Amino acid sequence: MSDAVSGVTALASIRRWRDTSPDAVAVSGAGGVLTYRELHDRVDRLAAVLRARGVGPEVPVGLCLERCPGMVVALLAVWRAGGAYVPLDPGFPEDRLRLMREDAGIRLVLAGQGVDARLLDGVPDVVELAWDGTPAGGGDATADGPVGDLAYLMYTSGSTGRPKGVAVPHRAVANLLESFASLLGLTPRDAWLAVTTLSFDISVLELLLPLTRGARVVVASAHETADGRALRSRAVSEAVTVMQATPASWRILLESGGVPESITTRLCGGEALPRDLADALLEGGARLWNVYGPTETTVWSTAGRVAPSPAPIDLGEPIGNTTVHILGPDGRPVPPGEIGELHIGGAGVARGYHGMPGQTAARFLPDPFSGVPGARMYATGDLAKIEDGKLRYLGRADRQVKVRGFRIELGEIESVLRTAPEVADAAVGVCDGPDGLPRLVAYVVLAAGKPAGEHDGEPGDAELWPALRERLRRSLPEYMVPAHLVVLDALPLTPNGKLDRRALPVPEWTRARSRPYRAPSTALEEDLAAMWGEVLGIAEPVGVDDDFFELGGHSLTATQIIARIQARYAVNVPIVVLFENPTIAELAAAMDLLDDDDLDLTEIAALRDELDGLSAEDLAAVLDQMASDA
Ligand code: AMP
Repeated sequence: MSDAVSGVTALASIRRWRDTSPDAVAVSGAGGVLTYRELHDRVDRLAAVLRARGVGPEVPVGLCLERCPGMVVALLAVWRAGGAYVPLDPGFPEDRLRLMREDAGIRLVLAGQGVDARLLDGVPDVVELAWDGTPAGGGDATADGPVGDLAYLMYTSGSTGRPKGVAVPHRAVANLLESFASLLGLTPRDAWLAVTTLSFDISVLELLLPLTRGARVVVASAHETADGRALRSRAVSEAVTVMQATPASWRILLESGGVPESITTRLCGGEALPRDLADALLEGGARLWNVYGPTETTVWSTAGRVAPSPAPIDLGEPIGNTTVHILGPDGRPVPPGEIGELHIGGAGVARGYHGMPGQTAARFLPDPFSGVPGARMYATGDLAKIEDGKLRYLGRADRQVKVRGFRIELGEIESVLRTAPEVADAAVGVCDGPDGLPRLVAYVVLAAGKPAGEHDGEPGDAELWPALRERLRRSLPEYMVPAHLVVLDALPLTPNGKLDRRALPVPEWTRARSRPYRAPSTALEEDLAAMWGEVLGIAEPVGVDDDFFELGGHSLTATQIIARIQARYAVNVPIVVLFENPTIAELAAAMDLLDDDDLDLTEIAALRDELDGLSAEDLAAVLDQMASDA
């Protein structure tokens, strides 16, 4: 690679590490490992293929890949060819992927071998990649070509019902990498466990920063990112030293046996970091950073080292070449202690929303504080204040929410609900579930002729929720599909006729009535039903045909259930078994299949009262005894 691409910090650094330590491992993950020499070679070859197919500056290239080392090769090769990448998450519905492709003007997609071909229907040019980023048909090393300015287009939920593509230039990425390089001080001995989907911009930091420091990126597989225990054992076996995650993902790891001690550098961001979580993450003397920033200002704009103290957690300091301003409605800075909207200026500010000049102008404003002609700052919609000299986050000024780390505009879900013929009007809110975690709740008013009243199992209702969920699933990612439905006679209004969000009722967290109740028939089913009720906070008895996700279950509660099953039965149930068998009847049957010949889980369940008080060691001894008696 030549200096022509030195603006692309990562590419230039990888070339240097290729020269100084060619055999050091650069990336490991599903499929195998790539040394710096191999990584450099794969990137060059794929870039040549891309160039030959017309990729150059400003050309968007879709990445629709499984989680493997080839992800890193693909991203770098697009840059090497001068183009910009656009993540197309293979877990997203076909309709949403098509919308993003059309909006971005994508003609070429790099696809993993396992990706469902239907997702890419109608794409003129698809290049299939092996686990290490080798394209089908190979490719020769590339010659240098023109350098691009646009690094990626990242789609994020849009309040008007369409996702918006944030256009991020290379200089913003280079600034992020340089700032975090000096903040974290990584060395070639470090290994960073990358757990984030490409479609969340924080993946940029974890996939690239280690490569600029001669360190190793460990790409967690899809299975590992979904299963806390599998992730933990990957971290242990690879002696991982750094990880970045949202609060929800850190909690899953904590519930799955704890964060391995080797991970001494921990970054938490994407949502407010609660003190109890910070304290848990600080255990063992790890270094912990609270990192904050919107996609529009390139991954993270501030970072604060969190100390073990009872003080509230602040957002820290702006990263290099970045400014933050807390402004009042008049656009002037508010005095310390007063609340205003956080505005971010400097090198991280994106170009704007792709193809949306109006929305761009509304949020990317002239920056009167920088003194640089033409400089802009981004109005984040985040409320903040300075308290005791610290920058504190105080929530949102609008209807954007975060649920388990995912950024969601409630208006986008509402607009899908309103397309259903059964629905006359709709609102979506967020309520804390019985487990204390936020959940999306859909409120709908039915079209004339449909039964009204709270969603309570009246005839007609039983079909409604499954049908609405199906409609939502066709156009929204799973994390945007509400967990609960409440049918109302009318949406509550304020005196001036606007929707009164605060008057939307908190649903009763009952079992989903869309399925008739069927009682457990074995001791194992009974035990699981009690466990689900407890973890999900449902007082009524849970039926064996009730669906875990319809009851409000999600990845964290699934982790808790798996941990309880493990503790009670000493049987290792991978979390995917619960995902694939989301009713008690199915789960009990699947567990019976997993269970080794000598141990009868149903028998253990029948003895649960006697086994309940036992320590893990005593439990293991009793189970051994039962197995040898069998
Ligand atoms: P995203 O574009 O998905 O990165 O989401 C950006 C939004 O997430 C910000 O505008 C904040 O509302 C929220 N956010 C990100 N990091 C933090 C943090 N450390 N503390 C509080 N809120 C955060």
